[in-house]
Amino acid sequence: MNPFTYVRAANSDEAIATLKREPQAMLIAGGTNMLDLMKEGVHTPSQLVDIRKLPSTEIVTKDGGIRMGAAARNSDVAYNSLVQKRYPVLSEAILAGASAQLRNMATVGGNLMQRTRCPYFHDIAFACNKRQPDSGCAALEGFNRMHAVLGTSEHCIAANPSDMCVALVALDAIVQTQGPGGERSIPITDFHLLPGDTPHLETVLEHGEIITAVDLPAMPFAWRSHYLKVRDRASYAFALVSAAVVLEIDGGEIRNARIALGGVGTKPWRSLEAEEVLVSAPAIEETFTAAANAAMREARPYQYNQFKIELAKRTLEEALKTVAAMSGGQA
Ligand SMILES: Cc1cc2nc3c(=O)[nH]c(=O)nc-3n(C[C@H](O)[C@H](O)[C@H](O)COP(=O)(O)OP(=O)(O)OC[C@H]3O[C@@H](n4cnc5c(N)ncnc54)[C@H](O)[C@@H]3O)c2cc1C
Repeated sequence: MNPFTYVRAANSDEAIATLKREPQAMLIAGGTNMLDLMKEGVHTPSQLVDIRKLPSTEIVTKDGGIRMGAAARNSDVAYNSLVQKRYPVLSEAILAGASAQLRNMATVGGNLMQRTRCPYFHDIAFACNKRQPDSGCAALEGFNRMHAVLGTSEHCIAANPSDMCVALVALDAIVQTQGPGGERSIPITDFHLLPGDTPHLETVLEHGEIITAVDLPAMPFAWRSHYLKVRDRASYAFALVSAAVVLEIDGGEIRNARIALGGVGTKPWRSLEAEEVLVSAPAIEETFTAAANAAMREARPYQYNQFKIELAKRTLEEALKTVAAMSGGQA
């Protein structure tokens, strides 16, 4: 393993200043992704800046919505009673990921920043443009069953692995950051980047900038929401495909729709195409089929992941049916 030093930041200013001084320094929060990547030799920081003890663990109401501190544990978000009542899709998405032990360590900020599970990214013996720019992409001609079918480029087809982020995309979350240049509020759909010809750049975060919180805006109809994940095992497995669905339905007609997909995109995938089909349409099976077809219209399969296109359509249709059948109201 690469030698490195370790410091624990007392506050976000100290973390930012340390990162700024040390170009090869990296943050560590729960460590559930970072430590694996260091053991694999993928991440070789000169210094680890531990932000786990920063006072940003709170989950509080804000402007009719909810603010989650970046260091809030995934399990604390998932079991928060307001999140469960007002944004069940987020609670379900988090609980569909990893294991109880991992969720007890993993944080909101770390989940947003987790790296792809592409095996060629994780194995430094293989070419990977994401790990080392301009080295090639072994996945293009390799075993690409888990890879993306939306948002890919000739340089990278790695899927974003996060479940939490798929729900955040459906909920129009805002990522709050602090860096040497001040504070920023970044809509979640702008936070992750498509690979294009720079797959090593995965988010708009700059070196020295840290995530401080994530805001869920008020969305009174989000009680009617659901996350459906399809995977190889019933638990402790990343998504083959997943769907986050939020619908507002009035008198059998869909007034509002937020649709996001996981497992199929190079970033957590918002489907405006599906939403366009759904809004102002009757909440019936034919509408859901048309929305699912629209969501996957631009999908491009590779040798081993053709199945994802049909699976994603069926998963989205199923999630839409479940949400349409829900009854209840905001807490
Ligand atoms: C076996 C296993 C199974 C898993 N299964 C799933 C799954 O099914 N679904 C799923 O979604 N996830 C899954 N995960 C991933 C897990 O959710 C992530 O490892 C976790 O969310 C990362 O959070 P962390 O706090 O531990 O991050 P860390 O490992 O500490 O950090 C991850 C990255 O985030 C950066 N970072 C952390 N906090 C901040 C911040 N505040 N600002 C800026 N950068 C920051 C770090 O620098 C690092 O680059 C799995 C992980 C494992 C090991």
